[in-house]
Amino acid sequence: MQKNQEKNKSRGIGFIYPKKPSGKLYSYRKWVSYVLLACLFSFPFLKFRGEQLVLLNFIERKFVFFGLLFTPQDFFLFALAMLIFIVFIICFTVILGRLWCGWLCPQTIFMEMVFRRIEYLIEGDANRQHKLDAQEWNAEKVMKKLSKHLIFLFISFLIANLFLAYIIGSDHLYKIITEPVNQHLSGFLFIWIFTLVFYFVFAYLREVVCTVICPYGRLQGVLLDNQSLVVAYNVNRGEPRSHLNKNADQPRGDCIDCGLCVQVCPTGIDIRVGTQLECVNCTACIDACNEVMLKIGKPKNLIGFFNNDYIERNIPFKISFKSYAYAALLFAMLLVLSSLVYRRQLVQTTVLRASGTLFQTRPNNMVSNLYNAEFINKTNKPIKFVFRSKNKSDQIQFIQNTTQLPGEGTVEITFFLIRKTSDIKQYKSDAKFELLVDNEVISTASTTFFARPN
Ligand code: SF4
Ligand code: SF4
Repeated sequence: MQKNQEKNKSRGIGFIYPKKPSGKLYSYRKWVSYVLLACLFSFPFLKFRGEQLVLLNFIERKFVFFGLLFTPQDFFLFALAMLIFIVFIICFTVILGRLWCGWLCPQTIFMEMVFRRIEYLIEGDANRQHKLDAQEWNAEKVMKKLSKHLIFLFISFLIANLFLAYIIGSDHLYKIITEPVNQHLSGFLFIWIFTLVFYFVFAYLREVVCTVICPYGRLQGVLLDNQSLVVAYNVNRGEPRSHLNKNADQPRGDCIDCGLCVQVCPTGIDIRVGTQLECVNCTACIDACNEVMLKIGKPKNLIGFFNNDYIERNIPFKISFKSYAYAALLFAMLLVLSSLVYRRQLVQTTVLRASGTLFQTRPNNMVSNLYNAEFINKTNKPIKFVFRSKNKSDQIQFIQNTTQLPGEGTVEITFFLIRKTSDIKQYKSDAKFELLVDNEVISTASTTFFARPN
């Protein structure tokens, strides 16, 4: 690693200039990133049941996932889903190391599969980029740098718009873009702030996000164990390394010290030193080394996916007890979440006794309690409903009533629940209610009814 860092310093640059990767794993990564980019760019603009496919509106605490609308009242579901995501990442990391970073993380996908590839296209491979940076400013350098940075800025602008489409919704974003700027000054400002942030991240900050800023990378030391699969150099097979034809009479390992694995590394490390926090498991070094092994007629995977126990003690990979424990926890949490989502009512009904009231005796041996009810529509469509007591012998006398519930809206009503005194067996009894839409009960609520028994 030290050697590599010195190399970078000797280039007189602040950045790492990784060599353009190629190989089987890189082409798999390309396909994975195409699919993920297609999903990422289409989800906020596709509609399902009148809502965009995925919306993460933290400002209004409104979340939409594939037709399921979650309102502020469902925030606990969202919190649980976030917890599940964290446990999933932990479980994934314990078994497969930092594969998420290299293959699925949006930062890496945009950096390696979009920005870096544009850079290769305009400025050429690592050596040519280095030469271009070192040379005096001339027409060629101005043209290349200008076109690269203008394209970077444009893509950052697209990403900023995409980001806002997830946060405020694509319809709102469309208004910001199409209506006069003075009507959406803050929205317009945010688009440009995010554009500049993304531009700075992808044009200058780059791998520093993964190696220094991202807290997930820092967690590796805690999460990885000797059975975790990580990108690693098989030191037993590779060492002692030496250049081809040198020390031909000495015993030597398979590593010919060509340095290609270091040159392709986007975080600038030498994987031969051992597992390092900076390694994002992008697998570029595996591809590079496999090509070398092929050329010198040695078996592939001198660098590969290995667990530490395999390299050090030849113990093959097996899923550890810790991984099973995380998987069991993940499964249990998923079960809880699915059952909560399945049992979730489309209208949330809350009935509370009116404060400061007890019960009212009425003529004809009747007694009543006063209640307030609130209905929250968790769909985006208006609902016409009927509210009634579950107990057929109870009567309801509305003081303030409505039968219309607006989409994503809330209404309140006030009513008396009237009961025959002959039905009162104890001072405190149950009062159950149901809300019907098209004769189907879609929501229920229960509270208490107070009355002096006969
Ligand atoms: S060491 Fe290999 S897998 Fe790790 S970041 Fe560098 S190139 Fe990618
Ligand atoms: S690419 Fe393979 S052979 Fe070349 S230096 Fe790296 S480990 Fe050694």
